[in-house]
Amino acid sequence: MKTYQYYAGGNWHDPATGQWIDSENPALGEVWARVPDCNADDINRAVQAARGCYDQGPWGRMQPAERGRVITRIGDVITKNAERLGEVETRDNGKLPKNITPSLKSWQTDSFYYYAGMCDKFEGSLLPTEVPDMLNYLRWEPFGVCALITAWNSPLGVLICKLAPALAAGNAVVIKPSEHASVSTLELMSVLQEADLPEGLLNVVTGYGKSTGEPLVDHPDVRMVSFTGGIPGGRAAAEVAARQVKPVVMELGGKSPQIILSDADMDLAVNGVISGIFPATGQSCISGSRILVHQSQIQNITERLVDVASRARVGDPLDPATQVGPIANRPHYDKVHRDIENALAAGAELLLDGRGKGPDQGYYIGPTIFSGVTNDTRLAQEEVFGPVVVVIPYADEDEAVRMANDTVYGLAAGIWTQDVNKAIRMAERIQAGTVYINNYFNAATQSPVGGFKQSGYGREAGFEGMRCFMHTKSVWLATNPNQPDPFPA
Ligand code: NAD
Repeated sequence: MKTYQYYAGGNWHDPATGQWIDSENPALGEVWARVPDCNADDINRAVQAARGCYDQGPWGRMQPAERGRVITRIGDVITKNAERLGEVETRDNGKLPKNITPSLKSWQTDSFYYYAGMCDKFEGSLLPTEVPDMLNYLRWEPFGVCALITAWNSPLGVLICKLAPALAAGNAVVIKPSEHASVSTLELMSVLQEADLPEGLLNVVTGYGKSTGEPLVDHPDVRMVSFTGGIPGGRAAAEVAARQVKPVVMELGGKSPQIILSDADMDLAVNGVISGIFPATGQSCISGSRILVHQSQIQNITERLVDVASRARVGDPLDPATQVGPIANRPHYDKVHRDIENALAAGAELLLDGRGKGPDQGYYIGPTIFSGVTNDTRLAQEEVFGPVVVVIPYADEDEAVRMANDTVYGLAAGIWTQDVNKAIRMAERIQAGTVYINNYFNAATQSPVGGFKQSGYGREAGFEGMRCFMHTKSVWLATNPNQPDPFPA
């Protein structure tokens, strides 16, 4: 079992608390590593290191093209070490290697190259004001030190979405991964030694949301926060940030609808809907966990969903035959069990029971399908963040849209139909940051993602993803200075 230190100013440190947090391998239900339980002193060290790198170090003064070359090196090192990092992440949160390593080698690391290229192309502008004899220009500037707070379901993927644009914008960062899965982020710092990064550019503190995350958000030298997690944690972090009127980006949860229209290609829709939740054991923010089906087709479609989902091989994520891995940690495993029991107690009909599937040791729950509830029930409204879907009938397309939007969330939605015009019209009416038509789960560095409503605000990826890590400055330059005496005698 390895005991980790936290990373600040280019060095490794024991936590001031002298305390560590056990990190479990959910495939076995065994502790396999210990990560520091950092407190405000540790956070201050990390933030001061980042601030030093930005204020006095090379980073704040570096030419954009050179900054781009540094970011390119990060992409190269991650690509080279993708297998090692993917394996660590699998041990730490149970995600299947095939759902980590290929992305790390492709579109996720591509974001470093995408944003590296943007460093010297992000242009300011000259503003066409009517004020005579004035040059008014707009500069995009970094905040300085940003806090990047990430969730446990996909620590590296979530981090990369923030890290590449934050650095390209010119910021130094302090990263706080989840207390349930910090090891891959710490290992990333270790492999990045070979990228020869400026000291203090990247810093990682580990610990709990309340005792580590909140003081990080509250640190006066942290000027912006990018948060990925659930609504309660996001709300608490945003409240702390609000005390100093600090900008935040919130990437929160979802209860995303998958609308199967009656003219859909049913094989495509059933496979797509199943693939949109179960392969990641439902632990993806955009998982399509509410399946809306025309009432005339409910029996046919639920039978087909159950048939496909019941074939999933639930097991050890390191076994190449496994199709659905474990729940990522013990508290969450208990929560998913509680959610299933609550749904049963509320009268939901269990069509496929994933409890007891998979190996005895470890935190396994297989695909679970419910029906027999309306859209206003807890099962249909609250994020389970596990392999649990609910199938709900709708009477007509207006009702399908109404139900799709009738939740506090607005992260993603799927529409399955052979009528493209109808799909486009429906996509306009859906309140979600991403809408998929006849596909699900696609993502690309160029394509901004984020939430409507309580799924969050701000965007990741694309130009917008970089703008979130910058603010504008308007500079007025008098071209023919002429300042008359304001108080002539
Ligand atoms: P969480 O909110 O419990 O924790 C997320 C991170 O925030 C952790 O690092 C945690 O320690 C920290 N944190 C918690 N409370 C905090 C506080 N008061 N101040 C500062 N930091 C705090 O979420 P989780 O359980 O780790 O992750 C699951 C959730 O994340 C799900 O709701 C899922 O949908 C969401 N998620 C969203 C996206 C997205 O891009 N929208 C991506 C992945 C996961």
